[in-house]
Amino acid sequence: MGALLADDVHGRVFTDTQGRKIQAEIVNLDGDRLMIKLQKTGKTAEVKMEILSKADREYVMQWMRDKKALAAQQRAHRHEHSQSGVNNHTSHLMTQYDLKENYDAKWPRLVSTDIGIDITVMSEDENKREFVYHSPNYEFVCDVKLTKNVVKKFAVMFEATREYCRLLPISTMKAHVPGGEFRHKILLFEDKETYMQKGGMPGSAGVFVSRGGNGVVMVPLTSLGVIKGKAGYRYDYDKSNKTLTHEIAHQLTDIEYISSPGSRGWFSEGLAEYVAVTPYRSGKFMAGSILDEIRDYVTAYGEKGRGGRALGEKFEAPDLEKYMLQSYESFTQDANFNYGLGLLMTYYIFHMEDDRTNAVAFLKALKKGKRGQEAVDALLNGRSYEQLEEQIAKAWKPRGVKISFR
Ligand SMILES: [Zn+2]
Repeated sequence: MGALLADDVHGRVFTDTQGRKIQAEIVNLDGDRLMIKLQKTGKTAEVKMEILSKADREYVMQWMRDKKALAAQQRAHRHEHSQSGVNNHTSHLMTQYDLKENYDAKWPRLVSTDIGIDITVMSEDENKREFVYHSPNYEFVCDVKLTKNVVKKFAVMFEATREYCRLLPISTMKAHVPGGEFRHKILLFEDKETYMQKGGMPGSAGVFVSRGGNGVVMVPLTSLGVIKGKAGYRYDYDKSNKTLTHEIAHQLTDIEYISSPGSRGWFSEGLAEYVAVTPYRSGKFMAGSILDEIRDYVTAYGEKGRGGRALGEKFEAPDLEKYMLQSYESFTQDANFNYGLGLLMTYYIFHMEDDRTNAVAFLKALKKGKRGQEAVDALLNGRSYEQLEEQIAKAWKPRGVKISFR
């Protein structure tokens, strides 16, 4: 942090690619636009990152990392002093970025992101094998050099997933934070072996590694449809793996939804599955009516590598109380079944009740720090588990899924 503070005081002599020099301090970085305060006049000016020398660009990157580290330190510090640290995490984001809850918003129908997004090359270090690229809301750190064009092709899927999660009326604030200051970090690996060494699971398209709330998504390049050719890496749409959106959704889900007992498992995975099952193509999520997709995905095994839970159209389910309150470890023991049922229940609370009152009450309870039975009580809203079981079974039956709770 020492270097950051010293530079804040004295500024720096920036040099552009044509060798012109100017003394200034960094004010902020937003995408590829750097705001600087000129030493001479005290005025602020905006410059494009790409006109700066390589050393300057690396300096700016380091400045940004230091700034984030400092912010994280401050968050951790507040965390220690708050009685409900987890709750504080999201409320802190809301205060810092002036974010508003969106529980009352309409459910999105078509989510569309600009496929012509800007990609900025932040740094390319052959020796460290570290190549850093920014899209509006993401930072991609890759161990091999890619072209802007290739990065743009897959970055669109990440950006679209963020936009989708932002528009879902569930107030998952991590999807609302402006990217300029809070890029979601994605680590990309040239080969699957390195991906596995770093913690990737065999056969997985990508993995979300939660690191105390922020977390990174790690992805082998092959999952993105990035393929090695004679002249470097290129993009092949047909080879891209849509199941990745599940992991991207986890990264965008607020910590209270993802790590609280009573939610972790059936809802955290159900929500990620919900996003992943939504049809996606070229920057667009067709979010309007996905009931058929969900039913087919849960009951059968989908085509074209889309996967599916293959539970069949008629199956037995465990006692809902045990199911919803079980530990995550226990949840993952029978992952295929539990993810499938979690998705059906998530869809149920979002779309099959009279309105979303109970779902919103549940989410708000989680945000207030309620855990386990207390959080589920908000969802039950006076009903017994048996009554909820009946209602879920009754709602899914005419849609082609017969669930009998034990
Ligand atoms: Zn998951």
